[in-house]
Amino acid sequence: MIAASREPHQPDPTSPEPRAWQRELAEAVTDPGELLDLVGLDREPWLAAARRAATLFPLRVPRPYVARMRRGDANDPLLRQVLPLAEEFAPQPPSFVADPVGDLAVAAHPGVLRKYRGRALLVTTGACAVHCRYCFRREFPYGEQLASTGHWAAAVAALRADTDAREVLLSGGDPLSLATHKLAELTTQLATMPHVERLRIHTRQPIVLPSRVDEALVSWLASLRWPTTIVLHVNHAQELDGPTIEALARLRATRAHLLNQSVLLRGVNDDAATLAALSVALHAAGVLPYYLHGLDPVRGSAHFDVPDDEARRLHEALIRELPGYLVPRLVREVPGAPSKVSISSVGTARTG
Ligand SMILES: *Cc1c(COP(=O)(O)O)cnc(C)c1O
Ligand code: SF4
Repeated sequence: MIAASREPHQPDPTSPEPRAWQRELAEAVTDPGELLDLVGLDREPWLAAARRAATLFPLRVPRPYVARMRRGDANDPLLRQVLPLAEEFAPQPPSFVADPVGDLAVAAHPGVLRKYRGRALLVTTGACAVHCRYCFRREFPYGEQLASTGHWAAAVAALRADTDAREVLLSGGDPLSLATHKLAELTTQLATMPHVERLRIHTRQPIVLPSRVDEALVSWLASLRWPTTIVLHVNHAQELDGPTIEALARLRATRAHLLNQSVLLRGVNDDAATLAALSVALHAAGVLPYYLHGLDPVRGSAHFDVPDDEARRLHEALIRELPGYLVPRLVREVPGAPSKVSISSVGTARTG
């Protein structure tokens, strides 16, 4: 399986850092039976299907995230994001494919995705602290496309030559899966490129593993010479508990801008009250909503899909309910488009 090429989550013995978060990362729940036990659900009828679906894309969920799930509730919105279900191997509509956003076509250099003007996205690592079942990169061949393994120098050279890349996005996988000293190595090289004016980090780690926002990370962020934007990934207000909110406060103290992107997911956040509560909770934690993404039609995720016309109605309800700055832009990724595309302008509902 391609997903099996993801990097193992072993603590790095050469790392000079305190490694509390690396231990927590390594101790994540990977066995579907254990996850069911922890949330107080019977193994029937979930376990056999979960084991089978986990062979398509392994289960992985950090324990602090499991602790935020409601016990005994199979419909818990956090559990639903990580528990492999039988629906994943049900026949998929033909529009649900392995590479729905056309990433393989735009990987000009290993590890560098060059889709939009002025912005270069670095696929720093394939590793994530959590495996989200709807992830559009669940089948991404990270082995060939990582900036960090073997290709780090090539990716840096490509960015150096690419003087149109005013903004560099660290993405993955989750870039904060890398040790902070590795991230610092990279930004030291980026700092020698005069055309790089902004740095952006796309990460879910502060949400699912708040211990990741430790002193080393915070001092690295505070030392960067660029205005830095951190785009988090929260789908439901229940993901914001005490430790997470404290981690976000530590990030804010580095003067980084904090934004959030969510994915609109059937059974997780597909109603206006849930989405409004998310925006309000994010704001209280110092984070502004950025994007609400329509699901990328990756194979195995069709049960999360919300049709575009329903998405538009939810978005209109949010616009009526909230101040403009708390309404995320409703977008989807369309292969070949010069930017994310607003779903309100997509026009006809998607087929399939
Ligand atoms: C989403 C994305 C970006 C960033 O797009 P913004 O609209 O600037 O947030 C950049 N590069 C790639 C490859 C992307 O998928
Ligand atoms: S954290 Fe992001 S990249 Fe990683 S599995 Fe979840 S959605 Fe995918």
